[in-house]
Amino acid sequence: MKQYVYAFREGSSEMKPLLGGKGANLAEMTRIGLPVPGGFTITTEACIEYYEQGNMIWDDLRQQIGQKLSEMETEMGHQLGEVKNPLLVSVRSGAVVSMPGMMDTILNLGLNDETVQGLANTSGNQRFAFDSYRRLIQMFGDVVLEIPKYKFDSLLEKKKTEKGAASDTDLVAEDFMDLVEAFKKVVQKETRKPFPQDPQVQLMMAVEAVFKSWNNPRARVYREHNDISHHLGTAVNIQVMVFGNMGNDSGTGVAFTRNPSTGENKLYGEFLVNAQGEDVVAGIRTPKDIEEMKNLLPEAYQQFKEVAQLLEKHYRDMQDIEFTVNRGKLFMLQTRTGKRTAQAAIQVAVDMVEEGLITKEEAVLRMNPSDLDQLLHPTFDEKALEEAALITKGLPASSGAACGKIYFTPEEAVNAHARGEIVILVRNETSPEDIEGMVASAGILTAKGGMTSHAAVVARGMGKCCVSGAGELNISEQEKTMKIEAISLTEGDFISLDGNTGCVYHGKIATREARLGGRFVTLMEWADDLRKLKVRTNADTPRDSAKAVEFGAEGIGLCRTEHMFFEENRIAVMRRMILSRTEDARRKALAELMPMQRDDFVAIFKVMGDRPVTIRLLDPPLHEFLPTAEADIQRLAGELDVSVSQLKETVRELAEVNPMLGHRGCRLAVTYPEIYEMQVQAIMEAATQLKREGHHVIPEIMIPLIGEIKELQYVKELVLKVIRQVGNDTGETVPYLIGTMIEIPRAAITADDIAKEAEFFSFGTNDLTQMTYGFSRDDAGKFIKEYRDKGILEKDPFQQIDRRGVGELMKTAVKLGLESRSDLKLGICGEHGGDPSSVEFCHLLGLDYVSCSPFRVPIARLAAAQAAIRYPS
Ligand code: PEP
Ligand code: MG
Repeated sequence: MKQYVYAFREGSSEMKPLLGGKGANLAEMTRIGLPVPGGFTITTEACIEYYEQGNMIWDDLRQQIGQKLSEMETEMGHQLGEVKNPLLVSVRSGAVVSMPGMMDTILNLGLNDETVQGLANTSGNQRFAFDSYRRLIQMFGDVVLEIPKYKFDSLLEKKKTEKGAASDTDLVAEDFMDLVEAFKKVVQKETRKPFPQDPQVQLMMAVEAVFKSWNNPRARVYREHNDISHHLGTAVNIQVMVFGNMGNDSGTGVAFTRNPSTGENKLYGEFLVNAQGEDVVAGIRTPKDIEEMKNLLPEAYQQFKEVAQLLEKHYRDMQDIEFTVNRGKLFMLQTRTGKRTAQAAIQVAVDMVEEGLITKEEAVLRMNPSDLDQLLHPTFDEKALEEAALITKGLPASSGAACGKIYFTPEEAVNAHARGEIVILVRNETSPEDIEGMVASAGILTAKGGMTSHAAVVARGMGKCCVSGAGELNISEQEKTMKIEAISLTEGDFISLDGNTGCVYHGKIATREARLGGRFVTLMEWADDLRKLKVRTNADTPRDSAKAVEFGAEGIGLCRTEHMFFEENRIAVMRRMILSRTEDARRKALAELMPMQRDDFVAIFKVMGDRPVTIRLLDPPLHEFLPTAEADIQRLAGELDVSVSQLKETVRELAEVNPMLGHRGCRLAVTYPEIYEMQVQAIMEAATQLKREGHHVIPEIMIPLIGEIKELQYVKELVLKVIRQVGNDTGETVPYLIGTMIEIPRAAITADDIAKEAEFFSFGTNDLTQMTYGFSRDDAGKFIKEYRDKGILEKDPFQQIDRRGVGELMKTAVKLGLESRSDLKLGICGEHGGDPSSVEFCHLLGLDYVSCSPFRVPIARLAAAQAAIRYPS
């Protein structure tokens, strides 16, 4: 019989896939002798099985839960539902990959109208017992019975107002007794059933609610945003309750072993006296700095500090720890790898190498390459910041700078984002329902909640700027206003958030480019020493090329020459060239374009120094350069001195039914050789000029969209003719390479022929994916999401190389290509060149380089190093 339920003492951290992150770590802490309240875990397999059984807890599972519960009861010496001295448990979800705030927790399960009296008697504290009971009804009502939370919250607020209580700690036992009665009425009214009194029934309902919450919409959105599979399931942890709300010698807290925002090596966290965990995480009361625990509960603090250090050493990584102090005694409730900003991740990784805790390889493997993106973007300009109008200051919950229009609900944030606006989501506090609004926002501002509030944790995970707990703000989500003293801002007004300082400013603030110093450089140097793949960039302007070099690009892998023709003064000449009726007229226009294109190449070569530069000859269908708006057509007709109807006729002639498979790439050169002739002349003259200036340039001329060897032979011949011509005219010989893109399946399959003529291959995986799947790269977005939701595609093949199909063609091309030419240079320049998984695949194929957009260069460098560590050759 399959085991679906494990006591904590039966597990270990190795069993994470089965026990989930929380369960495995509770088991591990138990195993190494830390003070963990007893409990057991229902496995992720049980959750999957629950769905397979048609959303039902089957008999065997019910029995296994009962068995572990009674073992736990024997150990504890009292039972769930026991009237005199009831055992109470918490029920918490715990997926394999931590999903903060996405799954729900139920505390104090086991309380009912009778056991609450027992708890009051054994604890000698009526207030505590009834506070615990009202919390159970509230959480159970929200999570299991799906009653809107505010129905309970508003009653609590009302009670506090009635009693003139500033905080819940000011309420007394009778107040909680009233609240229990009022909450039970809410349950009766909303569900037409009383609050379940039988603890066994409470337990099974809670377990089922955790299983169900795996598939609630916000969990799905979180998983999609974080690329987590929908098929993993969650585990359920059932654990004996310990209480932080037993008086002033009790409390609860959350702490990181290092600062998750900056990476500083200092215990960092929050603590509340006389409270349960929910109060800290939900931001209901503003917690105190963990340092203050030193004065309030000195012994527990000292013990906690030691345990925190021990856990960090044990796991060899920064930990995020939850704990409770029950009448002076410390209990560990959770430890997990702490989520951190990219800046903190780098600092922690580099520091831990220097502390001798991990190796350089481990440090490199610890960074999620995509997270580097956070570091490469601008921060506020210091000068502009000095003059900015500070509105208020909150907590620096997640670093970065964001500047945008304020919106007060997640729906409005999503809508504004869809309209193309940059959004700052402003909330009193966020909850898991806000997740889509957070995804759509550039920054998040909350009035309530601390550094570990939902907003803070989720924003850090997303790499978004967040300021939390800006308590002076008066936010009305209904009126869509935020006010502070004389300032009143409404929906659509601009504010700027500084996630590094917690400052909130009025209006927009200028930003400055990111400065990448210190530990970033150190980590990237380690990555560079480890990787095999070279990293180039896709760039077609000197500015982008310079940026890419700054980010570590080792050459240009794709210079798309067509982009150079879109500039103001060029597009008119280009259009004239395209609309020419005769070769002569076309050559005239091309002669005007040639010096412009040559100057572009000169500028790019200069920026790139001795680094290789691959220039691709014209690729897109020509109609892309033509005007579509009526006013533009009329202006162009005037410039060309043709009638509007004549021009429209020509535009119509050029239009194609399926332009992506039409007259583009090398096919343009077959029909209009003079276009490529002009481009090759510009490249070679530019290279000659650089050579005369003492530089060492080897242009790599790339011919796109080859599917047939004879196409390549034809175009190569005309390229060579121009190269010879430029050589004769200038009296200089400049070295060069001629190669092709592999972006048509036929080219991949016949790569042995193609390599006879090509000195290099560059995989154009955008087109190769389009043509292998038969998905239009411009339209597929419309259905790929649906494909992913329905499990037909796990990943978007335009973002991550489809190894099974497209990858197989690449493998064939590499093998056949090298058979014909052993020194064939191999690279990739499709969008996949900056995707970590695809970079890994390119490493496995043995390519020489990947090429990606400038901002992805560091990501590719790191991903290449990780691939080399994971798959040494
Ligand atoms: C490709 O097809 O992958 C490629 C890099 O070329 P483009 O995107 O310009 O078609
Ligand atoms: Mg292409």
